[in-house]
Amino acid sequence: MPKPLNLDIAMLPGPLHRASVRHFVSWRQWKKFKDALVAERGAQCATCGKEGVRLHLHEEWAYDTRSTPAVARIVGTNLLCFHCHMCGHIGFLHNVALSGELPNALEDTIRHFCSVNGVRREVFHRRAGAAERDAERLSKLNWVVIANLAPLLIAVFDRPATLREPTLGEKVEFVLRTEAERKRRAVERAKAKVPRIEEKLRSVRARIRALKRATRRTPSKRRKRF
Ligand SMILES: [Zn+2]
Repeated sequence: MPKPLNLDIAMLPGPLHRASVRHFVSWRQWKKFKDALVAERGAQCATCGKEGVRLHLHEEWAYDTRSTPAVARIVGTNLLCFHCHMCGHIGFLHNVALSGELPNALEDTIRHFCSVNGVRREVFHRRAGAAERDAERLSKLNWVVIANLAPLLIAVFDRPATLREPTLGEKVEFVLRTEAERKRRAVERAKAKVPRIEEKLRSVRARIRALKRATRRTPSKRRKRF
């Protein structure tokens, strides 16, 4: 039986890419939440213990695929160093490396994985393959996301006294509301583009009319000349 890994590989299923709590708050609020966790837990990677590096706030997910839609729960948040964080988003890291943005990041993360776990490279590739197959299977499902927002709300809005653990219905309602809000904003953005498109159409039509006038005039001028 293989020994359990301190740091494993994961890939978020496609439908959950923009469903995390991070996407429902601003960068400023997210940073405030992270700072509160650093103050509470210390400035070190929760997995490898590295200190003095930039820490990333990572959401831990748990999946229940027995129901339809399947349920994705954000069960915790961890402070991780870049490479430990990227092991949880290996598909993203692969894309970043391919884009040339961080060409050495994938290789550095593989080395980090091997060093933290005390294993050879084959283990990384085996675990990455398994994570990819899992994500492919889970990406085909419909999902509802449930997140306990209490720690985030306390850190961001300083309102612990008025907070209580939300009920399941409230959590689901939050997800639906934020989804509706996202759609409303998308519609607003599309509507805001309409005047610019109409303006462009008017200018194109004016140019067509001008061209038509010019082509009508050209033969008569020629006739006069000859
Ligand atoms: Zn780490």
